[in-house]
Amino acid sequence: MSNDNCLFCKILDGEIPADLVYESDTAVAFRDINPQAPTHVLVIPRKHIATINDIEADDEAIIGSLYSAAREIASREGIAKAGYRAVMNCNEGAGQSVFHIHLHVLGGRPLSWPPG
Ligand code: 5GP
Ligand code: ZN
Repeated sequence: MSNDNCLFCKILDGEIPADLVYESDTAVAFRDINPQAPTHVLVIPRKHIATINDIEADDEAIIGSLYSAAREIASREGIAKAGYRAVMNCNEGAGQSVFHIHLHVLGGRPLSWPPG
């Protein structure tokens, strides 16, 4: 399930430290090392899934759990009412740089649309 060469699997395994803010049976969340907003949390599945393109039908509950995590984190961070973004990049052309899917949860400042 875990991938030896994957940075986020190493965080899941405790090999690389991270500022964890949320854990469930299926998802873990930690603060982004290079935050782009006052709140910038990455929500990842415990299962190694490289990109959105690699999500399988059996993963639907896992993917749903990422959004449940985002909702909970937004509430705890006090950004739920003002608004926040929960976004996942897919492949290099969209800016994905770590190939273990992750939901960026961004908030605490006005966020413009469309993104660059
Ligand atoms: P992507 O570009 O793949 O959508 O997002 C990857 C995110 O992971 C980036 O926002 C980057 O700052 C973050 N990141 C990269 N390496 C680390 C790390 O070692 N620890 C943490 N907490 N975040 C990381
Ligand atoms: Zn991984």
